[in-house]
Amino acid sequence: MSTPKLRNCIRCESDRLVDAKVERVREVTGRLFSTVLPARRCANCGEEYFTLADLARFDLAVARSLADAGVFDAPAVLFMRKALGLPAKDLAALLDVRAETLSRWENGKTPLVDRPVKAVLHQLVSDRAAGASTTESYLRSLVKPRRLAKRVKVAAREVAALEQVTRE
Ligand SMILES: [Zn+2]
Repeated sequence: MSTPKLRNCIRCESDRLVDAKVERVREVTGRLFSTVLPARRCANCGEEYFTLADLARFDLAVARSLADAGVFDAPAVLFMRKALGLPAKDLAALLDVRAETLSRWENGKTPLVDRPVKAVLHQLVSDRAAGASTTESYLRSLVKPRRLAKRVKVAAREVAALEQVTRE
């Protein structure tokens, strides 16, 4: 999805907008995350414009860095939910917790310590960063699981195709 290019600077109305690579910094839970994003810079007043899509991508990348590092303090949890673009009640439903519980994690009243919840949040963020929705779809499907037959044939080539999974 591409955004139509801005024709005039919103601040000074100049039409001298040029393509630029601009450093963008985000502060989350006392850490600074920086990247370089494509932008349009006003040659007259210096104002810089990013597309919402690029800003959203950067936020997801930051959310993934936090989740990868296992940082799930209140600002991080809130940031991850915003990066996912999920309303609190939707994320709470996916994580199978009450909305008040999620709210307490987000406002720091109670620390999030459940590792399975962290793992699911991490997976949701990673999926979204990869443009997938595997975990979210699966969680939704568990609300009403489909029927599984009493006898299930697993294709031999499906078994053979699996990576070596034996534990030493
Ligand atoms: Zn301007």
